[in-house]
Amino acid sequence: MNRRIYMDSSATTPVDPEVNRVMTQYFAEKFGNASSLHSYGREAFEAVQESRRSVANLIGANVEEITFTSGGTESDNLAIVGTVRKLQRKGKDHIITSSIEHPAVLETCRSLEEEGYKVTYLPVDKYGVLNPEDVRSAISESTALITVMHANNEIGSIEPIKEIGEIAKGKGVIFHTDAVQSVGKIPTDVNEMNVDLLSISAHKIYGPKGVGALYVRKGVALQPLIHGGGHEHGFRSGTENVAGIVGLGVASDLARARREEDARRLGALRDKLVELVIREIEESYLNGHPTKRLPNNANFRFTGVEGESLILDLDEKGIAASTGSACSSKKLEPSHVLMAIGLNEVEAHGSLRLSLGRDNTEDDVDYVVESLKAVVQKLRAMSPLWGKTIELERWRKQLHG
Ligand code: PLP
Repeated sequence: MNRRIYMDSSATTPVDPEVNRVMTQYFAEKFGNASSLHSYGREAFEAVQESRRSVANLIGANVEEITFTSGGTESDNLAIVGTVRKLQRKGKDHIITSSIEHPAVLETCRSLEEEGYKVTYLPVDKYGVLNPEDVRSAISESTALITVMHANNEIGSIEPIKEIGEIAKGKGVIFHTDAVQSVGKIPTDVNEMNVDLLSISAHKIYGPKGVGALYVRKGVALQPLIHGGGHEHGFRSGTENVAGIVGLGVASDLARARREEDARRLGALRDKLVELVIREIEESYLNGHPTKRLPNNANFRFTGVEGESLILDLDEKGIAASTGSACSSKKLEPSHVLMAIGLNEVEAHGSLRLSLGRDNTEDDVDYVVESLKAVVQKLRAMSPLWGKTIELERWRKQLHG
């Protein structure tokens, strides 16, 4: 295996060399505790504050509205559990979410259901997009929180967050969005989006793993999950991960400077990838919305082929791809996102996510399409079901047009 192509940027991204360079200083040289009063501490504190400014600038927030966490998962947990615990004493015990959220949201909601909270999981259309009017209809006197992701990690569909935010604001309900996949890729301004809480993860934007942030609109009250010395405005105790936070800060500055150019370049590459795959490989389809999707996301399904086999064969050719979210791709159940957009289990198992990143080139796209074509052909030739499937597909098309 000579060539290696990484097309799994929605799972994680490499740490940018500049992020790495700046972070390194904060492990050994500038190692102070940001809470200490002496010069070492002040140096660390100032670095943390600078990062807070960088994250705030990336999403149009105020500096004091940024709370650092251990990543997207913790930010989601803090936003959801923190809000409902705070509002429970006001008799509010209802959460509204979508059926295509990341497990960091869905499993948090499920665990709250076990404690007696009520959760409404709203459906999405065949493209994975939620109807804001469904949110309006689901709101009741007892609704404490609406949590809907900005962009989906598997199929890249972009949700109507601004519209949902307007509804939430009008009804006085707290609104959280998981923007882990959208930040740095599409415009993400907390005021334009009308959100009260927004989750970010550093490792999706060329920062380090294990650090993230939660935007908390001024005046929104949260019950902390982690108690201790009252760090991070009291929302998240524990000595700050200074090097990680600095990494997130530099990554945020880079994301802000590069977003438009990255989106334009990767969007063009992605469009070429989609066009070639659909043209070159028969019975291949694009999952998700044709246009309202993240610029770097392509999610395909191939009739008569198993996604897991595709991943392994592509890996042999040096290509890193994914079947869905990295967290669920080791499970054998079909993706809840693909099922929610109406695919059956077989179709959901035949899906592949290719997510582009800053390092990808035109050449990579050509190599991936060529490899994918060969792998799909090989797997279909080995599948006794392929002939039957293709006959059935043709029948179905004739019947339904
Ligand atoms: N939310 C979304 C939409 C994600 O894609 C991910 C990671 O895949 C997370 C949350 C979790 O973020 P982290 O890996 O930083 O915990």
